Amino acid sequence: MSVPIFETSTYAFTDPDVIADAMTRPDGEYTYTRYGNPTVRALETAVADLEGGAAALATSSGMGAINAILLGLVQSGDHVIAQRCLYGGSFATLTRLQERFGIEVTFVGGTDADEVRAALRPTSRVLYLETIANPMTQVADLPALAEVARSAGLVIVVDNTFASPVLCRPIEYGADIVIHSTTKYLGGHSDVTGGIAVFADIERYHALWKRFIEFGVTADPFAAWLTIRGLATMALRVRQQSESARFLTSRLIDHPAVSAVYWPGLPDHPSFTLAEQILADGGGVFAFDLAGGREAGRAVVSRLRLARLAASLGGVQTLVLHPASTSHRQLDAAALKEAGIGEGTIRVAVGLEHPADIWSDLSQALV
Ligand SMILES: *Cc1c(COP(=O)(O)O)cnc(C)c1O
Repeated sequence: MSVPIFETSTYAFTDPDVIADAMTRPDGEYTYTRYGNPTVRALETAVADLEGGAAALATSSGMGAINAILLGLVQSGDHVIAQRCLYGGSFATLTRLQERFGIEVTFVGGTDADEVRAALRPTSRVLYLETIANPMTQVADLPALAEVARSAGLVIVVDNTFASPVLCRPIEYGADIVIHSTTKYLGGHSDVTGGIAVFADIERYHALWKRFIEFGVTADPFAAWLTIRGLATMALRVRQQSESARFLTSRLIDHPAVSAVYWPGLPDHPSFTLAEQILADGGGVFAFDLAGGREAGRAVVSRLRLARLAASLGGVQTLVLHPASTSHRQLDAAALKEAGIGEGTIRVAVGLEHPADIWSDLSQALV
């Protein structure tokens, strides 16, 4: 019942024609683990099914998948349209493509199809979005933006890490490639690093497989096995984490030390209507602002006991981060404001502890 871990780097053949043919494509016999591995393939098939895609390629990290996709799709002179509010590593990759490889990038807000239409150029090649953006949980208007990009022939790439396929399947809204940091909700236990790219179209999968094996971003079979194990409980985890987020945000709204709460499941969130349309629930990540600003934010995270101060999300333990002093430390006051992040904003990635226990920890820290 458990997928075996094929801890082998290579495979022996008796027929030289069979090995010669197998090395040219991802759907022949296994030849070498960087080209394909049965445990890794089991993960790829499972995630492709979950996302409604044709096939997938698993990688050693989420950033590995993002870089391999972008470098595999674009060449110098091409133009990329990307959402402004992106995971920090993805934003850095796009900036580097611009500075070092002559690929132009136009950043857009993620909700205005006309802004994407206005950004289009004859050289536009990729539209890059995130379903739910970090840390203020804005939801991208996938259906509207994908339609504009599709009619202009762009490849639509969506990082679906924050939503997981439990809440959203971007291929249904026009995405061509869906990326996950499997380190987060798919693995789900903060014990494995990995990434994956799911392809709506089998031809694109074949073309990018050739790039991925050159880049060498291969997933390790044991990491793939841990991630498969995580998948079995993903739907239960994400549903509970969304329910706990609803419980916690509904209490935080009324707390005197809290000035604002951001979670796509809340009716006054700017993305609420869009979230109702494309997300099955609000998800396990929310943020809140403290009236006391930066010092209050730092004080609250240092008083928490059950919730741990750590990067990452999607695991079984509740993790908190003060973005202004960590993930978004490079942003000055004006840039923070532009990104919608407060000096006192705290991001919470809800785990699977009893919601009442998480609430008692948050409320003792908020005094
Ligand atoms: C964590 C994360 C990544 C990067 O994934 P790694 O596995 O850390 O390389 C990319 N995108 C999003 C939205 C993430 O949360």
